[in-house]
Amino acid sequence: MSDTKEKIKCLIIGSGPAGYTAAIYAARADLKPVMYTGLEPGGQLTTTTEVDNFPGYPEGVDGPAMMVDLQKQAERFGTDVRMGMATEVQFSKEKGGIHKVCIDNSTWLEAETVIISTGATAKYLGLPSEQKLRGGGVSACAVCDGFFYKNQEVAIVGGGDTAAEEATYLANICKKVTMLVRKDELRASKAMQHRVMTTKNIDLRFNTEVDEVLGDQVVEGLRMVNNQTGGKEEIKITGLFIAIGHKPNTEIFKGQIDMDPTGYIVTKGKSTKTNIPGVFASGDVQDKEYRQAITAAGTGCMAALDAERYLVTVESSEKVTAE
Ligand code: NDP
Repeated sequence: MSDTKEKIKCLIIGSGPAGYTAAIYAARADLKPVMYTGLEPGGQLTTTTEVDNFPGYPEGVDGPAMMVDLQKQAERFGTDVRMGMATEVQFSKEKGGIHKVCIDNSTWLEAETVIISTGATAKYLGLPSEQKLRGGGVSACAVCDGFFYKNQEVAIVGGGDTAAEEATYLANICKKVTMLVRKDELRASKAMQHRVMTTKNIDLRFNTEVDEVLGDQVVEGLRMVNNQTGGKEEIKITGLFIAIGHKPNTEIFKGQIDMDPTGYIVTKGKSTKTNIPGVFASGDVQDKEYRQAITAAGTGCMAALDAERYLVTVESSEKVTAE
């Protein structure tokens, strides 16, 4: 294991909308940001086709193309974008302390500030037919893709708050929403349960799971199975939404930074500050509620501003100590 002593003012981990926006702002503030992209450069948007809800693109924009543009914009101001994965961290608890980050299990870097933008990963069922049709009608984001199924019949899987919220969102756009819940009850809050149950075009199916997603190139239907009786039923749908939760990408930060019980990084108040001075979190890694490209980008901007202000306070306290 080599121990390079490269010192970085602002290290950004992750390359989704949060990371790139942090990079644009940090570079313009002369923080000379270095970004490590992770294994999926561009993040979750690279697995989306059309992004229709990011302001400023009246005709919509292709997800991967948008991420290429964001990278170009970050590089235009001098961001050093590098392929590589942060695999271990050792954060300093001292204000002004140096944070150590290991890249690809081999190279240790030292950073004055770190912006964590490693995102979250949507969970999928793991069925071969579901995986085959991802991008062909199987989606994990109703707010992103629901509009493509206007006046059509769709299904959604899950019984938590996300599934309940997305089912009611889809019900506004689509003709009919079949909601598959594997237990005999919803896990969602009482208020959300009430909304689901009182929405006429949601067909709520308890004890029901996906047996197979039907269709070759695109979703054409769904075979459902009742896990109590074993009875199967086929319905015609054009879109299947998986809303069974997200997993924040925070494995490497465990024990190093405060997280909530589900692994999301905790930020302070309206800021992106974590409990570690000089370490900031932006995007889905600290947000289980909104999870949109635009909100991630907003918190990326905040993280760069928070990092810049932090460095100013560190420098001024160093000056006072020296005097
Ligand atoms: P949750 O973990 O709360 O719910 C996941 C749901 O998916 C559960 O019903 C679970 O079933 C089901 N599920 C999990 N795996 C499978 C599977 N393999 N097959 C079928 N069903 C499956 O995730 P959410 O994303 O809904 O919510 C995450 C957190 O975010 C929660 O704390 C939630 O309250 C919060 N949230 C809050 C919102 C708000 O306040 N507006 C909006 C959205 C989320 P089972 O119950 O059987 O385990």
